[in-house]
Amino acid sequence: METLDTRKLGPRGRKVKILATTGPACSDIDMLRRLFQAGADAFRVNMSHGEHAMHARTIANIRQLEKEFYRPIAILADLQGPKLRVGTFKDGRAIIPHGGTFTFDRVGEPGDETRVELPHPEIFHVVEEGQRLLVNDGKIRLKVKSVSNGEIVCKAEVGGVISDRKGVNVPDAEIPIPALTEKDKRDLAFAMEQGVDWIGLSFVQRPDDLIEARKLMEGPDGERRGALCAKIEKPQAVRRLDEIIAQADGIMVARGDLGVELEPQEVPPLQKKIVNATRLTGKPVIVATQMLESMIESPAPTRAEVSDVANAVYDGADCVMLSAETAAGDWPEEAVLMMDAIGRQVEKDDAYKQRVRMLDTPPDPTLADALSHACMTIADTVNISAIAVFTFSGSSARRVARERPAVPLMVLTPSMEVARRVALLWGGHPVATKDIGSFEEMIAKGKRMALRHGFAEEGTRLAMLAGVPFGQAGATNLVHVVNVQGDELENYEG
Ligand code: PGA
Ligand code: MN
Repeated sequence: METLDTRKLGPRGRKVKILATTGPACSDIDMLRRLFQAGADAFRVNMSHGEHAMHARTIANIRQLEKEFYRPIAILADLQGPKLRVGTFKDGRAIIPHGGTFTFDRVGEPGDETRVELPHPEIFHVVEEGQRLLVNDGKIRLKVKSVSNGEIVCKAEVGGVISDRKGVNVPDAEIPIPALTEKDKRDLAFAMEQGVDWIGLSFVQRPDDLIEARKLMEGPDGERRGALCAKIEKPQAVRRLDEIIAQADGIMVARGDLGVELEPQEVPPLQKKIVNATRLTGKPVIVATQMLESMIESPAPTRAEVSDVANAVYDGADCVMLSAETAAGDWPEEAVLMMDAIGRQVEKDDAYKQRVRMLDTPPDPTLADALSHACMTIADTVNISAIAVFTFSGSSARRVARERPAVPLMVLTPSMEVARRVALLWGGHPVATKDIGSFEEMIAKGKRMALRHGFAEEGTRLAMLAGVPFGQAGATNLVHVVNVQGDELENYEG
């Protein structure tokens, strides 16, 4: 198996991770390389846009960068989900006047300022008078006046420009559509074939949606492939948050659609609630959408955007995400550099450690948690340069990261899949390396890797967390603190 190290880049020097969305602005390997060097730890391939051939090239380019920089990178394929969209318009667009009447129907002809096709029969059965239909990220707000055979007649409380295939949100009705459309199923199969590390599931409404996706992610022999990230962007998902977190491997606070389905002012308290609820489980949580939105067009962000990113870092989110800023903006590299700079600045703040631990994460009554907690305490009490976690499934890495320890966390695993997934985890620096066979080997390898990856130097101490006997999941039972001696600086191959 491949062995990757980070000699060409060194540690990031921050705990929060950066997930950058790919798209036309970074379609070639040169820009992807620049984004990676600027600080992107993981990439999101957005299946709502672009074709499989293009995504396959992007994925191949990212895997190429892994080899170039000897560092595992996570790829998250984000499925579009049952996003509702209007049909097309005669002129590509139309202007709905404020206060005007606008009708959605099933007529497959181009629309105008009075009507458009809504090619989702399910909506016509569940929408009721008085409910809201929101178009184009909530910019156009329509109230249903009447629903009759194949027509939803609305009054435009707020009008505006509507154009081909714009999205429609129906926040007041539960729509009986499955979480995965036929397109999603094709995209999921493609993503699994491509060996992506994470699947993002959009518009999750119920825990069953995740169970269904998980089933489709299975390999030919029923084996688990990839990790599953539930995007919280529906009020229905907020109501069943804990059940959904339990079924998922990670969570995304998808503030774009969440702020349309709910009121925008409801998003900040929900963001904190979702981050905290997910952090309790040790699963990674991503804060997404409009984080540096103005950088799509401008090389400098607004002060409010900088504060928003900083606050997500202070809240202890595992990861912050860039969307169109890197996918389609004019300043993709600057956006990543900015996010990286914000993360470092916040984490240098003396108050950061305390703030990030304002959430109490009591250990479960397991040996793994007792020892993870001990690692955090050791780092707070004596001077150690890093914690090295040896993990088979990635579980110990999550349990240690959950404690938000004050020193870097080097995650050593024989599984490239686990290593790549760790790229989204708070503080986790993944190192894919051959398995260890003995206690002595663990110590030697831990020191060697810490030296090689820039987590130790002459005279520093390391805490190591592992399970003996080695090579089985769920057997964490050992914390060991070692001194790194100078002679180990030489001859550290293998
Ligand atoms: P999207 O998801 O960009 O796929 O819509 C994120 C969000 O809704 O915030
Ligand atoms: Mn969304």
